[in-house]
Amino acid sequence: MLRIDRELIEFICQTAKNMHPDEFASFLREEKGVIKEIIFSPVAFFGKTGSIIDWNSLPLDRNIKGTVHSHPIPDSSPSKEDLYFFSKFGKYHGIIAFPYLPETLVFYSSTGEILRHEII
Ligand SMILES: [Zn+2]
Repeated sequence: MLRIDRELIEFICQTAKNMHPDEFASFLREEKGVIKEIIFSPVAFFGKTGSIIDWNSLPLDRNIKGTVHSHPIPDSSPSKEDLYFFSKFGKYHGIIAFPYLPETLVFYSSTGEILRHEII
């Protein structure tokens, strides 16, 4: 079970709302087993066709273990591109779907299986 900070979930919802109808994508950083922080990649592209992250721009930080991105449609299931992207990096990947509520945030493993999470 993943553990994620309540304030971070609110921040993710707010960021997704601000970026709508574009997507946003960023890395997730954890501290002592709790996902606590968003790290925006300096070479991320956000647009209607999807989000691209340049993995090489990622700071070397072993606490960055996952990603999160938004879907401007009410569907949080991963696309084919998402699944490819999930397989490249990280242990968990959140997708927050429109209308960007804590209930529309779903986490997936690197192979696309749903991971349960607990809000701390
Ligand atoms: Zn996606």
